[in-house]
Amino acid sequence: MRVDMTPILSGRSDKISFSFEWEGADELFPALRFTSPVRVCGSVTDRSGYMLLTLSAEAEYTTECARCLEVLHRKLSFGLEKNVVLKSDAEDDDDVVVVDSAILLDEPVGELLFLELPSRDLCREDCRGLCPKCGKNLNAGDCGCSHREIDPRLEVLKKFLDTEE
Ligand SMILES: [Zn+2]
Ligand SMILES: [Zn+2]
Repeated sequence: MRVDMTPILSGRSDKISFSFEWEGADELFPALRFTSPVRVCGSVTDRSGYMLLTLSAEAEYTTECARCLEVLHRKLSFGLEKNVVLKSDAEDDDDVVVVDSAILLDEPVGELLFLELPSRDLCREDCRGLCPKCGKNLNAGDCGCSHREIDPRLEVLKKFLDTEE
């Protein structure tokens, strides 16, 4: 995603609008299945003395619930605002630098998507997951297995007390 900055750099315009369909997300996040390209749109505005990039993006992907493995379709919306600087006065790592009269959005959008994606997806906060014994999806109801777990530390203690006798 390359935005030509010439209209602002030459003083012909003080605003450049853009919109992209970004395919690069698949490569960055191979574990997710993006169901459509990430939609990115926004603008760069010249604010007499500095340039400001604002954009919003929308990603749709398919994944599985981390507990019950149900297939989930998720939509994620996010946005960013960054200063755009010429290479000569680049100071902050967070700034987007103009190279060859253009800025590239792949990296800032990819970084932001990385931060916005949940570390794991759940079908719902209180998903009960699968029974570790029979594999039944417990959201659909109890399976009848006994789920009484013995704390492994108590198990050790019990053994210890047994040998004491
Ligand atoms: Zn679930
Ligand atoms: Zn079970």
